[in-house]
Amino acid sequence: MKLKLSYSAISTYETCPLQYRYRYIERIPAKPKPALSFGKSLHEALRWFHSPPTPHPCSLPELLEYLEHCWSSEGYSSAEEEAKYFYQAKSTLELYYRNNVESFKLPAALEQKFTIDMGEYQLTGVIDRVDIDEDGNFEVIDYKTNRRLPPAKSLETNLQLPIYHIACEQVWNTSPKKVTFYFLLLNHTYSYIVTPELKEKALLQIEATLRGIENEEFSARRNNLCPWCDYLPLCPAWSGNPISSRSPEAPPIEIGEAVDELVATHREVKNKLSRIEGLKKIVASYLQEQKASKVSGSKGIAYIDEDGCLNWDLLTEAESVNSD
Ligand code: SF4
Repeated sequence: MKLKLSYSAISTYETCPLQYRYRYIERIPAKPKPALSFGKSLHEALRWFHSPPTPHPCSLPELLEYLEHCWSSEGYSSAEEEAKYFYQAKSTLELYYRNNVESFKLPAALEQKFTIDMGEYQLTGVIDRVDIDEDGNFEVIDYKTNRRLPPAKSLETNLQLPIYHIACEQVWNTSPKKVTFYFLLLNHTYSYIVTPELKEKALLQIEATLRGIENEEFSARRNNLCPWCDYLPLCPAWSGNPISSRSPEAPPIEIGEAVDELVATHREVKNKLSRIEGLKKIVASYLQEQKASKVSGSKGIAYIDEDGCLNWDLLTEAESVNSD
């Protein structure tokens, strides 16, 4: 039988081959975790939201009622912890609803499972959502529940969406125009194009994992996620040098933390806006006194535009060098 490889199996192997062996070969079950239950419940609520019996979306109260219905209580250490996650899931769905209800349309596919024969192995997975635009272009969407946005570079070198791109080509016989990570907690989407080079790179990466597994290379690779590893008590890399206890898992976002950041950011923006007004007055009076229409600094130029208003632009690198 051919080896089945999913994005999560490949990424587990790349992080630590021994962890892959425990999870995918020895099949030692992992403990349920709050973050996994939280993600599972949100994914299910969004699947339901995008698959109504009619082409019209449900109401927000109906969506929140469904969240209660599909909520998974697995893995939470206390009722208080679960309540925090539930509150976060509710506010995430409210945000999602407000941003998506206007443009609501039925997707081409939801929770699409795939198993593709790649010759030496099979590629498997589940695509969260596939949309088709008015010109017939496909877009593959994957929901994420990260608290912080990963750097753009790491998103484009991530293997997950190139794998879904390959799956889309096989399942629907079409190349998606773009692939998108939808960061639900941050209400942020990141889209990019899977070029033939990215696809080729992804296939080489998968083959490297395949070779490692075939050659039974399962050495432990200590990494900064070891404290959360389900197999830490079994791991020879830590015997004699044990990690005493796992750090508690962070909830997706503390509501108090979100409020504090909101208040602080608002204050910062307000201060900056009043500073801009002050600077505008200074520059406008200077231009008036000098009877000039423009003045430059080392980084930008301020000028009176055709409507008689003060405007400004950044200088390009070449312009700022020439202005020195
Ligand atoms: S504890 Fe770290 S090194 Fe050991 S199996 Fe888990 S991830 Fe690998």
